[in-house]
Amino acid sequence: MTELKKNDSVRLFIEDFTKEGEGIGHVDGYTLFVKDAVIGDEVMALVTKAKKNYAFAKMTEILVPSPDRVKPRCANARRCGGCRFQEYSYEKQLEWKRAHVKDVMVRIGGFPDLEVRPVIGMEDPWRYRNKAQYPVGVVKKPDGSYETAAGFYAGRTHFLIETDDCVLTHEINGQIVRRFVDFLKRYDISPYDEQNHTGLVRHLLIREGFATGEILVCPVINGDRLPHADELISLLREVPGVKSICLNVNKEKGNVILGEQILPLYGNPWIEDVLLGNRFRISPRSFYQVNPVQTEKLYTEALRAADLKGTEVVYDLYCGIGTISLCMASRAREVYGVEIVPDAVRDAKENALRNGIGNVHFYTGAAEDLVVRGEFEPGVPCPKADVVVLDPPRKGCDASLIDAVLKMAPDRIVYVSCDPATLARDLKLFAEGRDGVAFKPVYAQPTDLFGHTVHVETVCLLSKLSEVKNHISVKVDMNEMDLTAAESK
Ligand code: SAH
Repeated sequence: MTELKKNDSVRLFIEDFTKEGEGIGHVDGYTLFVKDAVIGDEVMALVTKAKKNYAFAKMTEILVPSPDRVKPRCANARRCGGCRFQEYSYEKQLEWKRAHVKDVMVRIGGFPDLEVRPVIGMEDPWRYRNKAQYPVGVVKKPDGSYETAAGFYAGRTHFLIETDDCVLTHEINGQIVRRFVDFLKRYDISPYDEQNHTGLVRHLLIREGFATGEILVCPVINGDRLPHADELISLLREVPGVKSICLNVNKEKGNVILGEQILPLYGNPWIEDVLLGNRFRISPRSFYQVNPVQTEKLYTEALRAADLKGTEVVYDLYCGIGTISLCMASRAREVYGVEIVPDAVRDAKENALRNGIGNVHFYTGAAEDLVVRGEFEPGVPCPKADVVVLDPPRKGCDASLIDAVLKMAPDRIVYVSCDPATLARDLKLFAEGRDGVAFKPVYAQPTDLFGHTVHVETVCLLSKLSEVKNHISVKVDMNEMDLTAAESK
């Protein structure tokens, strides 16, 4: 193996991507990670940081472009950290995502035979996002002066690049961002300065209900009021669809975008959207999937995996505003949703009323705390679940929750994951089981909610294996037993 040094320039072929979307190539057994290179490219790369067995490198020339290389739609595709795959054909992105899920299932989960289905993609994978959060700051003009601007941070930095458009978001955002920045400049309202924790305006959050056309605009401020707010309201109300304008107060240091407090300026502090026939109220601080077209497909897959007959008690853990709960309610006896963000639980309860659904119940708290304790609220014991839906954030489930679900031994678990690595880790714990109960992953169905980025969402059905004697037998059984055998136990 030839060890490379900083500033070495090498020719190499790109074989794969890292999970962050960098091209991977080898020179005589030495690994290089090359930003902006795609699988199938032959490139010249300049080493920027060298370690003993691997190096990071910058692509200096594409010698032979990959047959799957495409022209990016966005001029900022390389500078922005978001769209790592915009120069790789969409079809190939989906193939890579499937291979990536398969790879972690083997490496992290230890499931070489798990069926990973082809990724459900989008017909038109552009302008799919219903939410954007633009950082507000200053940019340096060619004459050396500084000016207030909104845009995005260059990949892995807090260096602001001015732009009012992103090809993944709604076209109308450009109009809203321009009006907002002009307003700040006109009244000399200071953007937030992260270094010194001074200045007022930190971010501009925009959210659209794609089915309803309703738009929420929410500036995030490091203070309690926005000067000349009435003027801003008039400017934004001219934009078709703007239904709600509110301020979010965030006076904390650090990277967390939203603070706790919402100050309504115009309309209700929420908008509505429709998913699979149900109407949802969405507050600024509540989680709501960013790609509604694909979310319907994702939930349809979750429903398919849950295979409800109408008699089941279902848990929807990490339920957000209750979207999965409400989609399942008409096919279940009772649904219990648990969510940690109080605003989201308020939305969820309101959403149940709005849709006239009576067999859903929502509780505030950490899923691991409530389910481990065995009480949704003091005096409200958790009934035994037949089906448990888990839809945690990227870090996956707490091991104590997995343990509590194993103890409860529902018939099925439907795991909806936004990070294949933590999904594989958690599946392994379910497969190892406890006290003779274990769950075998039956299949994984990835769905593309985040085209042109490295992210992928996966629905995984887990089926109960009873009477498993110990961990070793689980590991053997898992690979040999088919679903019918598993279910007949
Ligand atoms: N199922 C919902 C939300 C999924 S996102 C949907 O499809 O829209 C994950 C959710 O888990 C977020 O709403 C987040 O606030 C919540 N959350 C994070 N940690 C949690 C925990 N420990 N217990 C319960 N909910 C949690």
